[in-house]
Amino acid sequence: MTARRCAVIGGGIAGASVAASLARRGWQVQVLDAAAQPAAGASGLPVGLFAPHVSPDDAILSRLTRAGVQATLQQARALLVQGQDWNASGVLEHGVKGARRLPAHDTSSRPATPAERAAAGLAADAPALWHAQAGWLKPARLVRALLTQPGIEWRGHCAVAAVVRHGAGWQLQDGAGWQLQDGAGWQLQDGAGWLVQDAAGQCLAEAPLVVVAAGPHSAALLGARLPLQPLRGQIAWGRCGDARLPPFPVNGHGSLVAGIAHEGAAAWFVGSTFERASTDTQVRPDDHAANLARLQLLLPAAARELAPQFSGAAGSPAVRGWAGVRATLPDRLPAVGPVDEAAAPGLWASTGMGSRGLTLAVLCGELLAARASGEPAPLAPQLAAALAAQRYTR
Ligand SMILES: Cc1cc2nc3c(=O)[nH]c(=O)nc-3n(C[C@H](O)[C@H](O)[C@H](O)COP(=O)(O)OP(=O)(O)OC[C@H]3O[C@@H](n4cnc5c(N)ncnc54)[C@H](O)[C@@H]3O)c2cc1C
Repeated sequence: MTARRCAVIGGGIAGASVAASLARRGWQVQVLDAAAQPAAGASGLPVGLFAPHVSPDDAILSRLTRAGVQATLQQARALLVQGQDWNASGVLEHGVKGARRLPAHDTSSRPATPAERAAAGLAADAPALWHAQAGWLKPARLVRALLTQPGIEWRGHCAVAAVVRHGAGWQLQDGAGWQLQDGAGWQLQDGAGWLVQDAAGQCLAEAPLVVVAAGPHSAALLGARLPLQPLRGQIAWGRCGDARLPPFPVNGHGSLVAGIAHEGAAAWFVGSTFERASTDTQVRPDDHAANLARLQLLLPAAARELAPQFSGAAGSPAVRGWAGVRATLPDRLPAVGPVDEAAAPGLWASTGMGSRGLTLAVLCGELLAARASGEPAPLAPQLAAALAAQRYTR
């Protein structure tokens, strides 16, 4: 039987997850990325958190993030080195705006103990939850590990400008005119499919199924079928040195994770800013100040420990930064699967990961690959429908 073929545009955590999920099912997958190396976009974040969202009514987002954490944990356990690339450390959520109530049947999250609050430098009555099924992850490590699965071909330096439909009996343009190719070139298909083209109109790939996973650039490649918006973010990081910081990650209003090996030393990471409609990835001093202000609310004791680094005090190592651009949708859920089955069959997406790519991208890859392979969905119908890309085009 001929292998089913797919071209994925974008080698971040979304595209790599789609590619790995398809490859596990026997697909031949090409991953095209404008950059030389994988994880060149938001997935180049040095370290981030995966964690469930909790709500008293166990809303769709809560159920999706719980399923997403399990999917991320499964791939991290299978492909990465615990303690070095990721850790299922648990995460303390400090409710700076008050306590979040848990649904009755939630067994993996609970109120934090006094000892956990004390370890974070919080008062004994601070509103705080402990998420046992949560932790930190270096997303670029997961991306690279996913892309090395058999059946996946990585193709860097492939800036895609357009995805164009072709039909049976199609021809390819090679710049010098029209010609048909076979053999080592593009495979000619009997059925219809898609040509992936660069800005000069050259064909970079051809496949019956194309999955757009290009983060904030997905909107243009999908012909504006999804209302994706860029959301710039910056984190601050520095060396732990003697600073007394929580022994586990804390989130709630921004986040702090400390003691992570990075660039040859134990490092802390504080995030993140949110700036709509910006695609700027320069690190800005103002955003360092905004991240410190956020930390002062989340963890006042840790903010006091790190303040000398933020202020550039003599003898303190300088604060460093990293910035990237998230892709968000109005309902803050990803868009997965066909974007418009009637008008664009075979043009699919896995994008709109927003601030939760580390929690949701692996699950989205599984959902997409199960559907493309004709398997039952790995999620309840209501949850799969909430992620369907076609919710924006129907
Ligand atoms: C400051 C900050 C902090 C964050 N913290 C967390 C966190 O703690 N937890 C969490 O879960 N999430 C976090 N996120 C969000 C997370 O990083 C994203 O959700 C996730 O990385 C998105 O992955 P992606 O694969 O969809 O997009 P990206 O990683 O952006 O990948 C898109 C890829 O497409 C490629 N590309 C773009 N255009 C083209 C083109 N035309 N042709 C070919 N290739 C193209 C790019 O080069 C890139 O490699 C954070 C984000 C930021 C910015």
